[in-house]
Amino acid sequence: MRSIALFGGTFNPVHYGHLHFARACLERFLFEELWLIPACIPPHKVAEDLASERDRLEMLRLGISGESRMRVSDVEYRLGGKSYTIYTLEQLSREEPDGEFTLLIGSDMLLSFDRWFRWEEILQRARLLAAARMERDLPLLQKKRDSFGSLAERVTIAEIPVLPLSSTEIREAIRAGKDCRPLLPDTVADYIREKGLYRKKEVFYDQNRS
Ligand code: ATP
Repeated sequence: MRSIALFGGTFNPVHYGHLHFARACLERFLFEELWLIPACIPPHKVAEDLASERDRLEMLRLGISGESRMRVSDVEYRLGGKSYTIYTLEQLSREEPDGEFTLLIGSDMLLSFDRWFRWEEILQRARLLAAARMERDLPLLQKKRDSFGSLAERVTIAEIPVLPLSSTEIREAIRAGKDCRPLLPDTVADYIREKGLYRKKEVFYDQNRS
């Protein structure tokens, strides 16, 4: 069996917070590989500042270059539509029959995990690694895990420090014309600049209106 960690998100764009977290998981747990999976966002949900699927995938590829155990998976793009985790896992199990999957999630997500679509089946197909940001969050998370009954043993809770960074902050910095280079790899920053991503949209006024 191949032990594979799955890290999903919008990655709009990928930043050092994501990469630092992914590295920490690879160092601390015995995963052979870690796959980053950008979510497919249906057209009616497109936010003004959401980069295209191709751009988000390309930025991820650039961001992980040199990381020998990280891969980018386009599985959710290929599935299309709303990205339900159970569908992603079913597809990955077909494509990688010897894969032993662990989903990486934030502690806030663990608290609402039992409201995810077909959550019990998710836990049958994958283990869960829930990252707590602070030690004081642990008792609440452990209580939540215990409420999963026999599936609780599929959930590991670990304290993994994170860099306080978000893609939202980066998009806002770019719109404001600030330098975002300290927040993400240079290759990704260059790509954003060359493609003109996340810049403020121009507003056109109709000169002839009375
Ligand atoms: P946005 O600001 O656009 O909401 P984001 O920075 O939170 O984006 P996402 O693409 O939504 O990033 O997150 C992808 C995954 O990375 C999610 O599982 C999320 O919990 C996690 N994540 C986000 N920011 C960090 C961070 N600074 N450190 C560790 N993990 C993070």
